[in-house]
Amino acid sequence: MITLKNSFYLILFSFLSSVFLIFLLLGIIKLEDKIQSEMIEISTADVKSIVQNSADLIQNTLSIDENFPKQILKNHAYHKKIETNLETLVTQNIKYAYLLYKDKRGVFRFLVDGAKKSNKAFVNQKFDIDNEKWIDVYKTKKPLIIENKFLKQISITYLVPILNKDKVQLLLVIDFSIKKVKEINKIITWIKSALIATLFILILFLLVLLIQSKRYNIVKKTAYIDKLTNVYNRNYLQEYESFINLDDYIIAAIDIDYFKLVNDTYGHDVGDKILKNIGRIILNSTRKKDDIVIRYGGEEFLILAKTKRNDSYTAINVIERVFTNIQKEKFQINENEDIDITVSVGVNLEPHKSKTFSKAFKLADIALYTAKNKGRNNIQIYNENISNDSNKLSINEIKEALEEKRVICHYQKIVDTKTQNTVKYEALLRIVKKDGTIAYPNEILSVINGTFILRNISKRVLNICFEKLISNKNILININLNPQDIVNDTILSMLEDMSIKYDDFANRLGIEITENEDLTNNKEAKINLLRLKKWGYKIYIDDFGSGYSNFTYLAQIKTDFIKIDGDLIEKILTDKISFMLVKSIIGFAKDAGIKVIAEYVSSEEIYFKLKELDVDYLQGFYFGKPCELEEQEI
Ligand code: GH3
Ligand code: MG
Ligand code: MG
Repeated sequence: MITLKNSFYLILFSFLSSVFLIFLLLGIIKLEDKIQSEMIEISTADVKSIVQNSADLIQNTLSIDENFPKQILKNHAYHKKIETNLETLVTQNIKYAYLLYKDKRGVFRFLVDGAKKSNKAFVNQKFDIDNEKWIDVYKTKKPLIIENKFLKQISITYLVPILNKDKVQLLLVIDFSIKKVKEINKIITWIKSALIATLFILILFLLVLLIQSKRYNIVKKTAYIDKLTNVYNRNYLQEYESFINLDDYIIAAIDIDYFKLVNDTYGHDVGDKILKNIGRIILNSTRKKDDIVIRYGGEEFLILAKTKRNDSYTAINVIERVFTNIQKEKFQINENEDIDITVSVGVNLEPHKSKTFSKAFKLADIALYTAKNKGRNNIQIYNENISNDSNKLSINEIKEALEEKRVICHYQKIVDTKTQNTVKYEALLRIVKKDGTIAYPNEILSVINGTFILRNISKRVLNICFEKLISNKNILININLNPQDIVNDTILSMLEDMSIKYDDFANRLGIEITENEDLTNNKEAKINLLRLKKWGYKIYIDDFGSGYSNFTYLAQIKTDFIKIDGDLIEKILTDKISFMLVKSIIGFAKDAGIKVIAEYVSSEEIYFKLKELDVDYLQGFYFGKPCELEEQEI
């Protein structure tokens, strides 16, 4: 099969060879004919002149005043003379020489026969002609050659009319044969057979080749189709990537939201069933002829929707149709239960601006991450603002940093408002870049949001802080976890294990989590936060007041601390609303017995204001910039 991969050229070659051989065969047949007619020409030339001599002799013997046949019939001497002459004509090759006439009824009859005595025809013996051409001689009055080709020889009948007063009265007939030249004949026959045999083999080969390549194409086609979802698979993309004209398509990257959760809740088989259904919905929502659907990852699809210049609407409509059709579908889990599935979509409307397909695809992928970031279940179109932040690390750089242990933490003091003593540190994610400079969370997190790398980063940060807490019994550390981390089994069991293994460990580790819709709507997250509290960890709601803040949620999870959104603190002196908000958050927290931390405290004025408002703890450049723990005066 593999050798047939490039069968096109083989097929072309054998087809052209066959055509060439057919022409060669026709040429040889023509050549054979030519050789034969040449041979006839050469052989008859002599015979013709001899026979013409005889005809002249007969004519000269007879008188023109009387009918020629009659003269011969009457005059025995004439007959004898002509007979002798004809007898001399008969040789090994000239078998017969005879003189005929046509009687009144048009029947041919022998007059003189040059054959040996035993074979001689009688005078006036009837002669049956086997070819109508004989009659023609009476009209044309010219000699005629009639050829009969046999396998080994060519027999020729040569008719010479003898005229009297412009009328044909006698017909001198010579039958002679030419043997074909054996050697030439043999060679030609051999070449012909060889050609026919080669042609036969070639055509057979061509047939086999055609059948095989047809089969190969069928196999190849199935190798390009994903068995589960019936759309193209990654192989297809690899094979055809370079042929995709980036002017002709818009690219959409689709990723199922929280699919891991579906698998974990209902099992892998149900997950597979849902994938299959999603494949079906995508195929039904796209245009069969124009759009290309590829499953390029476990639960990730790629749609190349055909587009025309100045009309991306039609293509984007296709993507929207896919999006809403998945949204509308009720995915059957079992007889009594169905669930909703949503997807996040990133679209690159201008792939033609990219040099290669993979670059164009990457932009759709960046838009997809934005869609995930914005809370999932939405479509994002790539625009340069998403990625123009050239400071951001690429996913690969982040992966590399993880592997090369360049993911580290910097620590920022959290101080008691009254005493200004350091009570704990917040561990902040940093990546040491290859050139030694430091990358900050805003250059890292949005790139990996929605990917497993984010969880790996969280695990690394956890391990770093675990070590610090174990080796340094005097300190307390806060870490930041993502809502996704809270529902992750590995992260949860890491925290559970540590709380069991070390006394007074959980007490020293605070968990900061940003409250958003993801968190509030997730029952499991809520349950897990309560479990963390039970193990002894303190829960801090981060960025409180940034928009998502939900007071009832704080009560439900019985949070220990809230951290007021830094944006509000920064504006507290200049913006009245910010001030009011901070004030009311503090008031509420005091009533609920929740401690309050303010971050982004950058000046003495802000510090005094917050002290006035009775905030419990403070954090910010005014007290210290984040740095290595070793550099802090503990
Ligand atoms: P989100 O995309 O919203 O960020 O969350 P997610 O849970 O979908 O994200 P993630 O990419 O981490 O999870 C993808 C999951 O898809 C992981 C794996 O269990 C599941 N998956 C991948 N391939 C298959 C498959 O062929 N069958 C099934 N049943 N599950 C698959
Ligand atoms: Mg995914
Ligand atoms: Mg997903």
